[in-house]
Amino acid sequence: MIATPASFTPLLQPIDAAQTRTFAFRGNEILVREPELAFPDAQATAALGLAEARLLPVGLHDGVYCQAAWLEKDFQPRDGFAFRGLRSLFGSLDEALLAIAGRAFQVADWARTHRYCGVCARPMRREPGERAMKCECGHVAYPRISPAMMVLVKRGEAILLARNVAAPPGRFSALAGFIEPGESVEDAIHREVREEVGIEVKDLRYFASQSWPFPGSLMLAFTAEYAGGEVKPDTTEIAEARWFGPGDALPQLSPSQSISRALIDANLPRR
Ligand SMILES: [Zn+2]
Repeated sequence: MIATPASFTPLLQPIDAAQTRTFAFRGNEILVREPELAFPDAQATAALGLAEARLLPVGLHDGVYCQAAWLEKDFQPRDGFAFRGLRSLFGSLDEALLAIAGRAFQVADWARTHRYCGVCARPMRREPGERAMKCECGHVAYPRISPAMMVLVKRGEAILLARNVAAPPGRFSALAGFIEPGESVEDAIHREVREEVGIEVKDLRYFASQSWPFPGSLMLAFTAEYAGGEVKPDTTEIAEARWFGPGDALPQLSPSQSISRALIDANLPRR
C-alpha cells in the first residue's frame, strides 16, 4: 500500500538543502528523465525557467528538498526528459517516491486551479506558513480532499467482490464510493452498498486509509458483515458482483499498491 515514508517531513516554506528534487506536472503527467526515471534536480529545475509562483514546497525526504511544479499544457521536455502518466509509474518507481509524487501532484494541481479567486476572479496569492491561497476579498482556498469509502462485505468466510463497469475486463474489487455532503462515512457505506448491490450490512470495522491523488481522494477502507438482502448489481456502476468463498478461484484484483488489494488480502476466505 502506498504511504508517505517515515523519512519524509512536510514543508510549507522552501528550505536550503544540498539536493533538490522537483515533481513537475503537465496535467496528469509528470516530468522524468528517461530511462532511469529520475526527477529534475536543482539545475534541471532552473532550466525549466519557471516563475516562483509555480514552485511549491512539498517536504524533505532523506535530506532532499522536494517541491512540486506545474507546467503549461504545451510545455515540451528537453535534455532526455519526457512526460509519463503518474499512474503508469506504479510498479516501476520506488513506492516512497511514488507517495511523495502523489502528494506533489495534489499540491501542484491545487495551485494551478486556484490562481484566481472563485468568488471575485481576482488573482490569488499564497498565504505564508499555510497551505492556502488567499484573495484580497477575503476568500481563502485550501487543497480540497474528497473522502471516499471502500467496504469489503463478508458473509461467514465469503467476501463480496464486484466488477465496476469502468474496470478492466475481469478485474474485481471491494465496493467504493464518494461520501456525499451531510453524510458520515457510515451513512455512505450503508447507502452505497444498498445502491450498488441491493444488500444491507452491519458491524462496520475500520481497516485503514490511503491518500489517492487522482485527483484528491482520501480512501477510508472498512469491512462489514452481511445483514440481509439478495445481491443484485445496479448495472450502472456495478456490472457484476459475486461471493467468493473458501476454495473459490479469486478473480483478477487491483494492483498491490492499492488499499483495495490490501483490504482483500487481509480478509481472504480461509478454508
Ligand atoms: Zn476574491
